[in-house]
Amino acid sequence: MRKKLLCLCAAVLLDLCFLGIVCRLAVGMQWEDLAKVEQADQTDQTVSSPECFSGGELALTFDDGPHRVYTKKLLDGLRERGVKASFFLVGENIPGNEELVRQMAKDGHLIGVHCMAHVDLARQPIEKSVEEIRETADRIEAVTGKRPEYIRPPYGSWSTELQEKVSMTPVFWDVDTLDWKNRNTARIVKHICKNAAVHTVVLMHDAYQTSVDAALETIDTLTAEGYTFVTIEECLID
Ligand SMILES: [Zn+2]
Repeated sequence: MRKKLLCLCAAVLLDLCFLGIVCRLAVGMQWEDLAKVEQADQTDQTVSSPECFSGGELALTFDDGPHRVYTKKLLDGLRERGVKASFFLVGENIPGNEELVRQMAKDGHLIGVHCMAHVDLARQPIEKSVEEIRETADRIEAVTGKRPEYIRPPYGSWSTELQEKVSMTPVFWDVDTLDWKNRNTARIVKHICKNAAVHTVVLMHDAYQTSVDAALETIDTLTAEGYTFVTIEECLID
């Protein structure tokens, strides 16, 4: 996994450079974090778009769901706290979990595309990637009635060709919690809180109990410090 991620990071950096300026201004996301994905627990050095982090706003984003158990726990915790987040869904995980997707929509969370089967979209024939994105968007729209406008490409792997073919806004991140790897609630909370003052878009995965616990603990901690939590769309509007 480590090798794979590093290879992917190197391969996509060039492509992402073409998109970088637009993406930074649009969503406050940073591709440099791809190259630092293995630097667990180091302070993220990248700088977010100023319009995104003014006012102590954070956008919690969750990839790889919906998960029958953990997405449900997370959604209930977010509802209790009146907090909205952004979810980037895997199309194959939607059948059987439609009620969770409906709960996301009902509670005002942003729902975007992750992929159909968690592939590297920039590393396979473009027609196949476009089809996977379309199919995932179809599945989301079939449940929510709304066509997704945002995509979080797996591994952050995107290209100018995909951008030309897919009329969606790619969303990256500027705080990588590595929650899928460390599975340590206290460590995840500490990492987010340490970076909250200067970063905006937090990458997590609603597929682990530790991630759910960390997200809710982070919300409680940072809310007490005056932070507010927004969706990617609200971040853009601000
Ligand atoms: Zn993923």
